[in-house]
Amino acid sequence: MRYVIVTGGVLSGLGKGIITSSLGRLIKCCGLEVTAIKIDPYLNCDAGTMNPYQHGEVFVLDDGGEVDLDLGNYERFLDKNLTSDNNITTGKVYRSVINKERRGDYLGKTVQIIPHITNEIRMGIEEVAQNSDADVCVVELGGTVGDIESAPFLEAVRQLHHIVGHDRLMFAHVTLVPVLSVVGEQKTKPTQHSVKELRAIGIHPDLIFGRSQFPMGQDTKEKIALFCDVPVEAVISVPDAPSIYHVPLMLEEQGLKDYLIERLDLQANGDSLADWRKFVQRIDRAKNEVNIALIGKYTHLKDSYISHIEALIHTGALLNVKVKIKWLEAEDIEEGKVKKPFEDLHGILVPGGFGWRGSEGKIMAAKHAREKGLPFLGICLGFQMATAEFSRNVVGLAEANSSEFNPRTPHPVIDLLPEQKTTTDMGGTLRLGAHQVLVDKGSKTSHLYKSTEIYERHRHRYEVNPDYIDRLEEAGMKFVGRAPDKIRMEVFELEGHPYFIGCQFHPELKSRPNRPAPLFVGLVSAAIDYKKAKDRKAKRSGKKAKGKKAKKKK
Ligand code: GLN
Repeated sequence: MRYVIVTGGVLSGLGKGIITSSLGRLIKCCGLEVTAIKIDPYLNCDAGTMNPYQHGEVFVLDDGGEVDLDLGNYERFLDKNLTSDNNITTGKVYRSVINKERRGDYLGKTVQIIPHITNEIRMGIEEVAQNSDADVCVVELGGTVGDIESAPFLEAVRQLHHIVGHDRLMFAHVTLVPVLSVVGEQKTKPTQHSVKELRAIGIHPDLIFGRSQFPMGQDTKEKIALFCDVPVEAVISVPDAPSIYHVPLMLEEQGLKDYLIERLDLQANGDSLADWRKFVQRIDRAKNEVNIALIGKYTHLKDSYISHIEALIHTGALLNVKVKIKWLEAEDIEEGKVKKPFEDLHGILVPGGFGWRGSEGKIMAAKHAREKGLPFLGICLGFQMATAEFSRNVVGLAEANSSEFNPRTPHPVIDLLPEQKTTTDMGGTLRLGAHQVLVDKGSKTSHLYKSTEIYERHRHRYEVNPDYIDRLEEAGMKFVGRAPDKIRMEVFELEGHPYFIGCQFHPELKSRPNRPAPLFVGLVSAAIDYKKAKDRKAKRSGKKAKGKKAKKKK
């Protein structure tokens, strides 16, 4: 087992997760297996109880782990399913140590941060690495060097270096290389200070990634190499990129793969970056555009919807189209703050969410798409709100709603899952993770998945109320996907509509560059057709108008 530990300096939000993922991808391209761990130094046991405005989207794994969004990046870049153990948080570490203390495992000792907390962290990392089939384990330490919260983690990885040895573990440090507009020169001092801070802890970085707006000049690289005591080929420039998927290529061009092979004495056998390059070329080449609206409630922080954005990029690359996302706040639609919100759209995507704020805006979007034949995909809450809209306006149950938003509605078409009725704790108690869904043969969904048996990831507490299924189906909302028990509704398709689909699960979470989520492929394909039909219609009416004018002149 080899380890690469990635730390961050100067400030947060430098894209450490993407750099870690890209570095992992480069190692994978050598024909080696890679796993990745994210360390989050917060006290929450997992990301599940956090508002998306805190740390962005809550990513869900097959095993039901609610984890940091970086695990989504790792899964997409490494094309590998991870487990909740791949996300270590301070909360998890302390919980485990305190449980051990209560059991009496420490045999009368005083339990302390060093060695008990640090040992727990180190052993946690080693265990995940050993239990995986990987040759290399990449560990990203969240936060910035110097943070009080990160201190035990830095000490733990310092000790790991001592224990496994210098040949088997290397440190990479991500910093900022700003340009002062007055002098126009790339400044290396923040990097020097950040590395100095690391060295004070006993960590000497082997590799430095300098984030900057433009590529770093050779002189800047040499300066960093000299002052931070690393070879110049170990100073890697990471300028702003057209997409996150360009980053592995950018790193490879600077010789990072060769440096990693040499530094960690890796037995590289093969080079499969070619597929990745082709994927990036497909993103770059797409010229035609389609406009898809994303109706959310955390749209001011795009990271809240990162997996949706990525799934649309993967789909665009497959279908040779650029998907332009029109961000719409559901609440603004509701309050009439956006004029003509649905103008110039070729499709609507309503993602998941919690809480009543914006739920009526999502209902309005579903109504518009249903009535206008506009392609629509509703995910989780989007699926639930489209069901409520259909119940109100087609089935005729005017006050239909989810009991999440109106506990006294006479028609709770969306209701609490029966097993949730006695739940009191909020953390980790939703219906989570990958569950089997059986899909009707001949449905659009089975056609898109090329299967009638699928496994998708879930994160919900409410579901379609079984008492209303017959009425909904009679009116044209067909539940073509169900859990094996047949009473839990998973996918609906609307009869007579080109593409109006809702799913209780989250297809965006399993979308990968080479395997876009099937329901996203369906949405974007339908959006392309919708746009073509609209253009043809506009052309025809343009011709007609021209013809009328010519007649008049005569
Ligand atoms: N709030 C809804 C539920 O709990 C939807 C959840 C979601 O969209 N992830 O069922």
